[in-house]
Amino acid sequence: MNKALYDKEIQCPVCKNLFSTKKMRTSAIRIEKRDTDFCVYYNGENPIFYGVFVCPNCGYAALESVFQEISPSGKKIILEKIGAKWEQRNFGSERDIYKAIEVYKLALLSGQLINQKKGILATLCLRLSWLYRYIDIERELDFTAHAVNCFEEAFRYEPLPIGNLDEVSLLYLLGELNRRLGKYDAAIDWFNKAVSNRDIKRKRKLDVMAREQWSLAKEEYKKQKEKNEAMAYAENEDLI
Ligand SMILES: [Zn+2]
Repeated sequence: MNKALYDKEIQCPVCKNLFSTKKMRTSAIRIEKRDTDFCVYYNGENPIFYGVFVCPNCGYAALESVFQEISPSGKKIILEKIGAKWEQRNFGSERDIYKAIEVYKLALLSGQLINQKKGILATLCLRLSWLYRYIDIERELDFTAHAVNCFEEAFRYEPLPIGNLDEVSLLYLLGELNRRLGKYDAAIDWFNKAVSNRDIKRKRKLDVMAREQWSLAKEEYKKQKEKNEAMAYAENEDLI
């Protein structure tokens, strides 16, 4: 038995089914390191794997923090679009990375169907990009791109914080995700907003990271521009 995990009893807000799912003990979480887009690596069990609950009876899935928040019309949609076709499957035991990817995709499906807040969809996509990074599969950037679209919309239309991100952390993250996608001009723009936000002075680590990644994006942007110019020149001269 894995001592880092315990069972939690939950009632599904859609079909009222009672089920049990694993959660990770906070005391067992051991952080090893973080990437520049806040992706965390753990020694031992990974709590991200257990961040989504899935009802084994109707297939409704969501992040733990919003699992109970579903409107009457949302419940109807889930029963019609997922419940009707759902083959009973249980995600309540220990999860490996592939199971984790599956539950996050199920949560994304439920979330899209019920028109969940963009900030929540963005969080799911960001975590999916991390899960793919753990196993080094190139779908990572597909989910990074989805996360950027959702975070940008959330920033425009939804109240802060977005998930657990305050304004300045979100500005930074949008810079970093755009940089990872090779969208350097957008990245520079978001990093600019982050470093000129007055709250960043209260977050020394983020301030340092924002400046580092900002200059990295500027360098990458310059290189990309030079490459494009060289290509255009070669084409002009009929060199290629
Ligand atoms: Zn259910």
